[in-house]
Amino acid sequence: MPSYPPREMSEAERRRRAAARARRKKEIRRNRIIFAILCLALLALIVFGMVKLVGLFTKDKDSSSGSTSSSTSISVSGDSTSEPASGSESGSTSSPESGSASTSEPASATGTAATTGGGGADWLLTLVNNNVKLPDGWEDTLETKVADSSTGKELATVAADAFINMKNAAAAEGVDLMLCSGYRSVEYQQSLFDAEKQKWLDKGNSEEEAYNQAKTVVAVPGYSEHNSGLAADIVTPKHQNLDEAFGKTDAAKWLFEHAPEYGFILRYPENKQAITGIIYEPWHYRYVGVENAKAITASGLCLEEYLDENLQKA
Ligand SMILES: [Zn+2]
Repeated sequence: MPSYPPREMSEAERRRRAAARARRKKEIRRNRIIFAILCLALLALIVFGMVKLVGLFTKDKDSSSGSTSSSTSISVSGDSTSEPASGSESGSTSSPESGSASTSEPASATGTAATTGGGGADWLLTLVNNNVKLPDGWEDTLETKVADSSTGKELATVAADAFINMKNAAAAEGVDLMLCSGYRSVEYQQSLFDAEKQKWLDKGNSEEEAYNQAKTVVAVPGYSEHNSGLAADIVTPKHQNLDEAFGKTDAAKWLFEHAPEYGFILRYPENKQAITGIIYEPWHYRYVGVENAKAITASGLCLEEYLDENLQKA
């Protein structure tokens, strides 16, 4: 019994403890508020970052070079430097004029082809990749026009007409297609490449080192299929990122099924990375003409393989 403290003491003690508890509670509340504020700030930062990233990611990947041969090498900086949102097209003749465009006929496979590009009737099958350069003089005879008035992007005329028809057909089925990148001049590609190379020179690299480093970020001028005017990066307004997730959109599914009817092939299929040297790009289509597109798609081959086989037959 004597172990109990006097009643007054215990009252005082209780009050002291209650006060301490209240202080602790207040402290905890304050900490919680601070924590919540920090969380909100972090969230805001993340959202801001995502918005920024989306801006970067809407650029093309395949333009960024041989480094794309492995699926891990997608580089954001590469995309952004290789194709700024304004695009090569902004400097050229692109003025939105959907009126005249939409009246044009569907481009038939090889018929209209021979009159337009860099040479014979098979010019639509011209190979451009990391190892094969755009033929000399190609751009001298290349005619381009705006293929999508909403973005102002251009394609070789024959491909632009086909794209317009394809876009209209998709729209009739409730699918919105959007050309986010088309023709890029070699000159524009060169300016991108030079700027990237200069960055590496400024860091004290040798000419050769700078060249090789730049190559991993920006496609060497003349080695991007977009230089040909026959390559189209197609997205949909609701999903403008050039990423693998685009492949799951209605637009990608529609393209996968119908693009060959308009002369376009999926240029970098998922299972052909080792051959194309480019990662799976569900947005990148290549115009080859309707007959070629149907034949290539039916064969299950990528363009490199298809051309190899046809050369062997010839
Ligand atoms: Zn592309």
